[in-house]
Formats: sequence, C-alpha cells, structure tokens
Amino acid sequence: MADDVRQEILGGLKRVVIKIGSSVISRKEGEKGKSVYRLDEERVRHFARQVKKIARTGREVVLVSSGAIMAGRDRLGLGGAHLTVPEKQACAAIGQSYLIHAYEKKFKAQGLKVAQMLLSSDDLGNRRRYLNAKHTIEALLEYGVIPIINENDSVTVDEIKIGDNDTLSATVACLMDAGLLVILSDVEGLFSRDPTRRTKNSPPPELIPLVNRVTADIEKLAGKSGSQVTVGGMLTKVLAAKKTMSFGIPTLLVSGRDDSVLEKVAAGETVGTLFWSGRGRIRDRKHWIAHTLKVMGRLMVDAGAVRALVEGGKSLLPAGVLKVEGLFEFGNAVSVVDESSREIARGLVNYNTDDLESIKGLKTSEVRKLVGNNFYEEVVHRDDLVIIENDD
Ligand code: GLU
Repeated sequence: MADDVRQEILGGLKRVVIKIGSSVISRKEGEKGKSVYRLDEERVRHFARQVKKIARTGREVVLVSSGAIMAGRDRLGLGGAHLTVPEKQACAAIGQSYLIHAYEKKFKAQGLKVAQMLLSSDDLGNRRRYLNAKHTIEALLEYGVIPIINENDSVTVDEIKIGDNDTLSATVACLMDAGLLVILSDVEGLFSRDPTRRTKNSPPPELIPLVNRVTADIEKLAGKSGSQVTVGGMLTKVLAAKKTMSFGIPTLLVSGRDDSVLEKVAAGETVGTLFWSGRGRIRDRKHWIAHTLKVMGRLMVDAGAVRALVEGGKSLLPAGVLKVEGLFEFGNAVSVVDESSREIARGLVNYNTDDLESIKGLKTSEVRKLVGNNFYEEVVHRDDLVIIENDD
C-alpha cells in the first residue's frame, strides 16, 4: 500500500543516509548462552545490491555502518566476553578494516566504489572539522563514491564518544542535508508496546506507522534496550529521529532483516515507522543559519556578487568581496552586505578574517597563484548561504 506522505518525501528525494546496524550485517552462531555474532558477508552483498538499485535512480547514498567492534570480536574469537575499553578499541581497529574490506569487495562486485570515513564527536562539534567532513563527503558523492561512515571508536573513549550510530547517522543526515534518514535495524519499527515483553494475555502490540512529534510519551515507549551486538536501543533511534525532525529531515525506522525493505521504502509502501512532522527542510535550515548562529563578521560585496547571490543562486567567491570586517574563523556565520551596507545574506564562511583579507577581490586563478591548489573556491558556499528577504 502506498502512502501519500511517503510518496511526497520520495518525490523530491536526492540524498539518503542509510544506517546499517551491526545486527543486520551479522549472523548469530552457536548455542544459547554461548552464541557469537559474525560478520556476514552475504548480508553485505545484499546491501551492495540494494544500494546499487537506489544509486541507479540517480539518488546519492551515504551509509553509516556499525559492526567494527562485532567484527573485531569475531576476528579475535572473543565471542561475548566482557571487554575493557582499550580491548573494545582494539576490536574496533581490527574489525573496522575487516568490515570495510567486506564492503569494498561486495560493492566493487556491483560496480560501486566506497570510501571509509571515521568520525568522532570532536570532529562534529568543531565547526571547522564539521565543515571539512561535509565537504569531503560532498566531494566523494560528486565522484559517485559511496561514503561508509562509522565512529572512530579506536581513538575515542566514553566521555567524548558519540556512543551509538543511531545518533551518528542523524548527525550525518543533518550534516549532509539529506532528504531522508533510513535506520535499518533488527526491529520493524516503533510499537505501541514493547513486542519483546509480550505476555500471554496482553493485546498484540501494534506498529506505529507515523510519528509526527517525539513527545515524552513516545520516548517512554521507546524505553531502553540494547543487546550484545547492538549498542543503541529503541530510545537512541527515537532520539535520532527527533534530532533529524528538528532539522526538517524525516527518519524512517525499518527492519533490515526484511530483504526487500529498501525496495518497499522506495515504492512508498507503509513499512516501519516514519518520523516526520511535514515541515519543510529548507526553511528550517535557513532558519538555523539566519537566526540561530551568532554573526561573527561582515563581508561587503560588489553589485555583481549581489546579483549572483540573490538572482543567480550562486556561491560567494573571493572576487566579489570588497571589505572584510570582524574577527571570524572558518565555519563561523557572517553577514553579507551590499555597498550601501544593507544585509543581503548570511552564511558560513570558509576562511578566517586574515586569510580572507589576503584574497578578497581576487579571481579564482589569482588566488590559485597566490596559495596553490589547496583552497576553497567559495568564500561562502551556496549550500551554506541564506538570502535575507528584504521588503523592497
Ligand atoms: N561504532 C560501533 C561499531 O562499529 C557501533 C555503534 C552502534 O552500533 O551504534 O562497532
């Protein structure tokens, strides 16, 4: 059965972030009490085929894959043994290369190229590194490569860890301004009651197809769960959805154990739980840039640049910058004003004050002569730029 809300989301969908949980790329072996989880390359192959189908429709796919620690345990034959933090980090280091090797092999067989990116909360909490990560992923997508992201577990300890890949995938979805986050896990979605705690007399739990606001009740419903192989539980998924929704991005929670689930998602069928309030995403992001961030500087631009920004929907280049004011760093918010000091836009700047001062007014070729090839062509990229509506 197709569903209007889902059809609408899919209609304009260009970029999707898919989170693959450890439990959907592993298999359980051994008897009860002694069971171990092993990386299942067949599952990786399955996802390679699915991603290929999505990529064929012209959509960009970013994967966030768990499984490093699980694969590392598997390699070392540690089973479900209790591990100390450094031991887990060692497992992550061993398992991550095993994991990415499996992706590399299986995706290559489908004619797809992959890239590994390991992020930590330090990277994402720091504006400069946040934007660096974004630009790298952007460049990978432009090359037609599938980024496969995981937390950099082997160098992050608990206090500074993102901790679970549900949260990481939501952050990545916001970072990349995705049109949809799909969380593939071992649950079918959010239920009206915990399906694993069903007693004989209790009514069957019902799958909730649509959540349009993550209320305290919904959070309570999600409770806390987790298992030997998964780090997050339903709560981290619900909180991840809350995060993307506040940014204006829908999240779909579906079972990665259902082999045709991504096809059903692509067909707009009512599978899993969709978290979506229906609010436009552009408006929200514009709102964030224009109204949430503190403006750290002011760039006066010439009439040509004003036209390019306002009418042409272009990025701001060094050539159009006449004057630089304030003290800002890479990634800070700046105000863009015309020659009569009227604010026309706000955006995130790719240079600090001094660096921009030294290249303002220069053509791209002149900047290249001055600093070599390693520089941002855009002072403010159009994706990070909001035009301020003026009344006249
Ligand atoms: N980053 C962890 C790993 O790859 C998994 C975290 C999670 O599953 O939420 O092992």
